[in-house]
Amino acid sequence: TAVLARANAGGLFSIGRTPDSEKTRSVFERALKKCRKQAERAGRARTGRCGRHALLLIIMEEMNMRDDNCIFCKIANGEIPSATVYEDDDFRAILDLGPASNGHTLILPKNHYKDLCEADETVMAKILPLAAKLGKSMKSQLGASGFNVVQNNGTSAGQTVFHLHVHVIPRYEGGPD
Ligand code: AMP
Ligand code: ZN
Repeated sequence: TAVLARANAGGLFSIGRTPDSEKTRSVFERALKKCRKQAERAGRARTGRCGRHALLLIIMEEMNMRDDNCIFCKIANGEIPSATVYEDDDFRAILDLGPASNGHTLILPKNHYKDLCEADETVMAKILPLAAKLGKSMKSQLGASGFNVVQNNGTSAGQTVFHLHVHVIPRYEGGPD
């Protein structure tokens, strides 16, 4: 039900388009087609019907709210192991594989958003307080004297993984480590 509610609330109608706009209709039609194909493959060819739940999941995928090919989706949801330093219902924070300094952390929302432009505002509102919390513990636990909060949107801005993430990079007196 949580997924259904999210798909209903965030999927079709919270993006500033009316339900009957051309773009929304084409997303819906594409999703419906995919869903019917999946239903057929699953052996329900005769009715051609697909479940409401399955349809909403595909709509979410079409809207980039969920992406089965996204590595950060898999990490955030625990399907791929990671060096997790923090987790709650909305986020997982992990150590960056190519750290700019000791303790370089990435905050990953558990839902898939390509970048900040796509993100749910309630998620955005929670990210900065979490970055501050992690920054504080970098100071108290790692001996950092400061930290950077960085977030890249788009290739030209240096984004390389297209699942919204916030870098929290601890800084140390006298050097990067
Ligand atoms: P960005 O350039 O903002 O898209 O940052 C992507 C960051 O993700 C880089 O700092 C990478 O080192 C890091 N990264 C990529 N793949 C992984 C992974 N599997 N686990 C942890 N960090 C990763
Ligand atoms: Zn993702």
